[in-house]
Amino acid sequence: MERPLDAIVVGLGALGAATTWQLAKRGRAVLGIDRHHPPHAFGSSHGETRVTRLAIGEGERYSPLAIRSHEIWRDLERETGERLLVECGGLIVSGTGARATCHVPGFFANTLAAAKRFGISHEVLDAPAIRRRFPQFAVGDDDVGYYEPSAGYVRPEACVAAQLALARERGARLALGETVLEIGESPEGAFVRTDRALHRAARVVVTAGPWLPELLGSAWAGRFRVCRQVLHWYEPLNATDFGPGRFPVFIWELAGHAQPIYGFPVVPGGAGVKIATEQFERTTTPQSMARDVDAREAGELFAAKIAGCFPGLTGRSLASVACLYTMTADSHFVIEPHPAFARVLVASACSGHGFKHSAAIGESLAADLET
Ligand SMILES: Cc1cc2nc3c(=O)[nH]c(=O)nc-3n(C[C@H](O)[C@H](O)[C@H](O)COP(=O)(O)OP(=O)(O)OC[C@H]3O[C@@H](n4cnc5c(N)ncnc54)[C@H](O)[C@@H]3O)c2cc1C
Repeated sequence: MERPLDAIVVGLGALGAATTWQLAKRGRAVLGIDRHHPPHAFGSSHGETRVTRLAIGEGERYSPLAIRSHEIWRDLERETGERLLVECGGLIVSGTGARATCHVPGFFANTLAAAKRFGISHEVLDAPAIRRRFPQFAVGDDDVGYYEPSAGYVRPEACVAAQLALARERGARLALGETVLEIGESPEGAFVRTDRALHRAARVVVTAGPWLPELLGSAWAGRFRVCRQVLHWYEPLNATDFGPGRFPVFIWELAGHAQPIYGFPVVPGGAGVKIATEQFERTTTPQSMARDVDAREAGELFAAKIAGCFPGLTGRSLASVACLYTMTADSHFVIEPHPAFARVLVASACSGHGFKHSAAIGESLAADLET
């Protein structure tokens, strides 16, 4: 007879994979369910790169999560032999005057404060110092930089795959291609009804990313806005100039714009420099989102925000991909019990900055589920 389940994890993207792995590691009987076969390209956790940094401008409280996540990814690398975290350095550019803000007001000042508070190694660079150190960036005289050597990128699909593989090795059951239709409670515990079965467990954690509004219904729908975001890979004149070691991950709070741009070095085996901005005006759903990207989108972004910043890029887009952000009103995370079901925990760490914290949040959700 199968052991009764301690927990069911609904959705196995960044957060669900981390939570399932951490529960299995603790010896818990856990079932992870996903409507797709993660890692996959339909939610928020696909692709090759997510920015990670330790001094967190969205709020000092996040830095311990990012620091712990780096430790967990290094442990996972030792266990799996996979490269998950590349600390190629990160540059945040901001400055005076009307300019973009990254996620929250005071992002640059908050970053500096967090670096000081948590003893995170960093340098503050004025515009001439940025130009000398990183000549790829055509910064303005009013620009100032924060450089963090331990920043870089995590590999989202590799992280999800590594954690799910280890979870399975430790006895977790994974039900893939199975869609959860209903979550609730009965006197015996919590339950999850899917298109295939009824599963019961002591606790349920819902980490369904951009599907949360539809899965949790009207009480939650208004708390999340799902927004389509598009990533572009632009051709460099000289790829070596934009490789890790020469070119950092970056966030640039551009003067005269509402939203920043961010980007990555050319990854091993890649050809283009991945750069994106963010948009929060237009909402969508995982079902209705336009997955195809019109070639004009890459050209428009390049002309509006990138051409003047990176003279070493040709403007030719090599690829474009669409992805989903699950936004909250204040850009912070939602991690709390379901209002109607005390045994059900809901977790959405997105708003465009959740991946870097996901390993540590999974660890802390696993600890919470034991109480
Ligand atoms: C374009 C883009 C760029 C980003 N850049 C960064 C960055 O640079 N740095 C950073 O830290 N963060 C970044 N983020 C945010 C980060 O990627 C997300 O916070 C994170 O991936 C969210 O993971 P998740 O597990 O909440 O959601 P998801 O990865 O979407 O996982 C949800 C899972 O739930 C499953 N599911 C949904 N409904 C059901 C159901 N009914 N039944 C069964 N399964 C279901 C889905 O199939 C999916 O696998 C970015 C996000 C995007 C989209």
